[in-house]
Amino acid sequence: MYTGWPLYKWLPHCPSVDKIAKRSTNVSYTPLALATGNVEIMPNTFTYKIITENHPKEGIRATGVKVRNTWTGIKQELYADCVVIAAGAIETPRLWLNSMLPFNEWVGKGLANHNMDLVTGIFNSKELISIINSPNVGPNVGHTSGARFDYPGLGSILAMGLSPGLTASFSYAISKSGNSPHLDSHSFSKGPVVGKELMELMANYQNSMNLLIVTDDEVVKSNKVSTNPTVTDEHGPVPAISYVPSKNTLRKKKELIKIAGNILLKAGAKKVVHSDWPDGMMIHIMSTMRMGYVVDQNCEAFQVKRLFISDNSVLSNGLGGANPTLTTQALATRTAAIINEKYF
Ligand SMILES: Cc1cc2nc3c(=O)[nH]c(=O)nc-3n(C[C@H](O)[C@H](O)[C@H](O)COP(=O)(O)OP(=O)(O)OC[C@H]3O[C@@H](n4cnc5c(N)ncnc54)[C@H](O)[C@@H]3O)c2cc1C
Repeated sequence: MYTGWPLYKWLPHCPSVDKIAKRSTNVSYTPLALATGNVEIMPNTFTYKIITENHPKEGIRATGVKVRNTWTGIKQELYADCVVIAAGAIETPRLWLNSMLPFNEWVGKGLANHNMDLVTGIFNSKELISIINSPNVGPNVGHTSGARFDYPGLGSILAMGLSPGLTASFSYAISKSGNSPHLDSHSFSKGPVVGKELMELMANYQNSMNLLIVTDDEVVKSNKVSTNPTVTDEHGPVPAISYVPSKNTLRKKKELIKIAGNILLKAGAKKVVHSDWPDGMMIHIMSTMRMGYVVDQNCEAFQVKRLFISDNSVLSNGLGGANPTLTTQALATRTAAIINEKYF
């Protein structure tokens, strides 16, 4: 039995998600949409085909979707005046390809992902007191991303606070550099760091600062999402991803690593560790259904009328290295207004 301070007195003063969350759609648009009474959310529902018809005036146009409930396996057809796909930059091209929509040489092509990396500076407590009047950097205090430096033409660098577990993996253990630590071309320690050295670095966790490298990744047509009819799941052929960073992307990334390491050294870091992340570490996945190539400036598919795309895949490139989500959300909001004007 709880005998301490009465919880019910405290709860009303708790910060609620709608008051403190960033403007994620579950606290912004979704409640507004549900309040209209015209929206139904169908969880566990996977769309596996876009339904189209050949209209005498409009040509090929979307009229609905085929969906499957992933819990019950029950399939359904849903019909609408317009269809909006927002399945993300991997699943959206998969859905186009599996629906056998008209051939477009740019569907799935041009995958950009900011080819990220991490550079970590380890500071000395005594020196920190003279620099910031504190013995710690405190990477687990405050916002997870605190400051950002944009370098047009190269990308951006973000100060990123990580928990101890993520620091051990992202800063030190995840690396494509081989089995033992060595120096990179800028003379920074290069991962992976394991064993005794990892323990020593983690003992300095409170004095470490991570800088995330977000490269202005070049759009290359051979970087792509494709499907192979022989590799399937219950929703049809699964997406296969090919990504090899271009020489130009690697050049930009190298420059950003050098700048980040020098920022840390000049700030007083006694050691700099460059993780050297694998190229497959993708969290900003973009540009596989690019505006101007697959969709028009309204995000409506050139070849399928009334079919709109409103996720990261329509971004024409990697935005110069900016985090993509707010741009995609802004674009989706604009697309909603355009659909309303054009078709309703
Ligand atoms: C660890 C991490 C940290 C990140 N941090 C940041 C950040 O700080 N800032 C930033 O801007 N971005 C960040 N991102 C990127 C951000 O998450 C993406 O930019 C954003 O979520 C992309 O939105 P989207 O709509 O394109 O795709 P998603 O968010 O992936 O949405 C697609 C949705 O469609 C569903 N779906 C897929 N296929 C189907 C189908 N056939 N039928 C029905 N539903 C389907 C999926 O389940 C998913 O819910 C981060 C990502 C990760 C992984």
